[in-house]
Amino acid sequence: MQNCSLCLTQIPNHAVFCHRCSDNLQSNTPRCHSCGIELATNNTRCGECLSHPPEFDRTFVAGRYAPPIDQLIHQFKYNGDLNKGRILAEWLGSALPLGNPDLLIPMPLSPARLKERGFNQSAELARLLSQRLQIPVAYDLLKRHNSETQQIQLKRKERLSAMRKVFYTDQQIKVRSVGLIDDVVTTTATARAAAGVLKKAGVKEVIIWAVARTRRPNDKD
Ligand SMILES: [Zn+2]
Ligand SMILES: [Zn+2]
Repeated sequence: MQNCSLCLTQIPNHAVFCHRCSDNLQSNTPRCHSCGIELATNNTRCGECLSHPPEFDRTFVAGRYAPPIDQLIHQFKYNGDLNKGRILAEWLGSALPLGNPDLLIPMPLSPARLKERGFNQSAELARLLSQRLQIPVAYDLLKRHNSETQQIQLKRKERLSAMRKVFYTDQQIKVRSVGLIDDVVTTTATARAAAGVLKKAGVKEVIIWAVARTRRPNDKD
């Protein structure tokens, strides 16, 4: 037996959270097959993905970016609490469907951000998932420029096109499918740009694996 990572109730060793916490974390609302956003209806894709199909093929998230998961992510990412990263990776790993990609690639940080934070949270998640699922990780295949220049000032379209120049790779990638690992998916602009680079480098299928997905900003509980 061990303790639930959230409420410390005793649980079996293979579980991450107790039943009650799992139920609280689960959202049974349907999600867009492409980008993982929660949908109000039983459609397979959201309006955004239908009108602007993303470069990635599927998105799988463990749950919604909301308490208490947002706190765990914050402690992991900004306070460097690696134990929280382990909990999050286990949660994501247990939520993934069967059928693994050939290779895991973490969403890269820019060199400046990496220096500031000291570690890449997505690389740490990828490392833990790789151990759990026996899939190799390529840490340096996808790279990110230092170009986060005041993107807040840009309009959505300009931001998307600026984002497309942010990622690069200097190699052909000879695997069929890649799991692109991220902690939180917010607007999909980053995932779209990164997936576009991977596809151009030869990857046939890009699947986003992320711990949590934000809801639309105007959605209320
Ligand atoms: Zn619990
Ligand atoms: Zn979508």
